[in-house]
Amino acid sequence: MENFDIGIIGAGPAGYTAAFHAKSKGLSVVIFEKDCTGGVCLNKGCIPTKTILHVSELYQEMQNCADLGLSVENTGVDYKKILEHKNQVVEKLRKNLELALKNSKIQVIHSEAEIVDSNTITANGETFKCGKIIAATGAEPKELKGLQFDHKFILNSDDILNLEELPKSILIIGSGAIGTEWARIFSNFGVEVTVIEFAGHLLPLADTEVSKRLERMFKTKKIKFYTGTTVERIDGKNVLLTNGEQLNPEKILLAVGRKPVSTEKISGVTYIGDVCGSIQLAHFGIKQAIAAIDGIKFDENLVPSVVYGYPEIAWIGKREQDLQEGSYRKSNLLISALGKAHCDNCTDGFIKILSQDDKIIGAHIVSKEASALIHQILIAMQNNITIDKLKEICFAHPTYSEGIFESLWRFS
Ligand SMILES: Cc1cc2nc3c(=O)[nH]c(=O)nc-3n(C[C@H](O)[C@H](O)[C@H](O)COP(=O)(O)OP(=O)(O)OC[C@H]3O[C@@H](n4cnc5c(N)ncnc54)[C@H](O)[C@@H]3O)c2cc1C
Repeated sequence: MENFDIGIIGAGPAGYTAAFHAKSKGLSVVIFEKDCTGGVCLNKGCIPTKTILHVSELYQEMQNCADLGLSVENTGVDYKKILEHKNQVVEKLRKNLELALKNSKIQVIHSEAEIVDSNTITANGETFKCGKIIAATGAEPKELKGLQFDHKFILNSDDILNLEELPKSILIIGSGAIGTEWARIFSNFGVEVTVIEFAGHLLPLADTEVSKRLERMFKTKKIKFYTGTTVERIDGKNVLLTNGEQLNPEKILLAVGRKPVSTEKISGVTYIGDVCGSIQLAHFGIKQAIAAIDGIKFDENLVPSVVYGYPEIAWIGKREQDLQEGSYRKSNLLISALGKAHCDNCTDGFIKILSQDDKIIGAHIVSKEASALIHQILIAMQNNITIDKLKEICFAHPTYSEGIFESLWRFS
């Protein structure tokens, strides 16, 4: 039997962050991982998806660069090679992480672990006594009633990463971040994409104006979509939708959310990350890990959301549809007002900021670099910086950040 100050189950972003922070406080740490170090984020989520998305955008840009004076001939897609590239990126980052764990002298046990009680873990036939146990065991793709993954026709977000070739057509069920990013990836590669969404708009967690803009972009990209719609029935490869449409996609991606790997919670054990079933984002799990080890609290209302692709979509705080008319002020700036957007040939999008009492209460950005821009707003919100104070900042030109500055003068 071995003794540790902290025992952590799961080496995804929540688990490994807890491990590094505990170690830096001088605690002895053991971490258990039954699959790949780095968890879903590094191996099956954020990193591989964004790698393939980047390549798909490059391909799309190559198709459209003639107007810019570039001629790119014989463009083509070698999807096997793209997957190899994706695997290399993942492996490189995983090796870096494994090395960092080793250098920090964190004991890693590559095995499934079981919690016996709030101080005891068993793994590999051994018992580990821990002063504190943290469970960061993550989540897995959700199925729908009557729609189960067969991993051949009906795929989940893990299966889709390992498709050896691009399908001719795909039906994506669910237009959250995962569904939207894959719709963009497949459409960039020329796959015929249909998205169905049960809610009234695409990307239902976003501000409605953002959802509507995404719908417009999907139309431009010839991505078909049906909102307020789900699957009525599947007969073989024939899919009947609740709106009466019939489709024959080569593949289906079911992307309707993720569920915690277990719902049982053992008293005295700290649960962090996706297994909690609240906000299932890597950075949320990371902040929970830091809160669990260092006691540094964070505001769960100030967790940014980002959807990647061209243009990026990012938001924080209140959505306009949640606010009472007349209770807030709003500023809206089209990205096409920015010089940098024209230089980059990326003029689609807007910056919308919502305010109350001279403070920002929400921001919704559709723009190249939105994932970076949202943090400027976040810093202001977290620190209660007034709009008047923000106006004193000197923003560089030409940048997308200038869009934030310009927005500050446009409140109606
Ligand atoms: C396609 C996709 C794209 C995504 N994109 C983004 C994004 O862009 N940004 C973002 O913030 N989030 C994104 N996410 C979500 C993000 O991946 C998760 O929020 C994040 O991985 C959660 O981290 P975690 O540490 O809680 O759990 P996980 O990363 O799921 O790690 C849990 C680990 O625990 C291990 N484990 C479970 N049970 C045991 C056991 N009994 N013994 C030993 N080990 C065990 C698992 O093998 C796993 O490695 C995406 C997810 C997917 C699927």
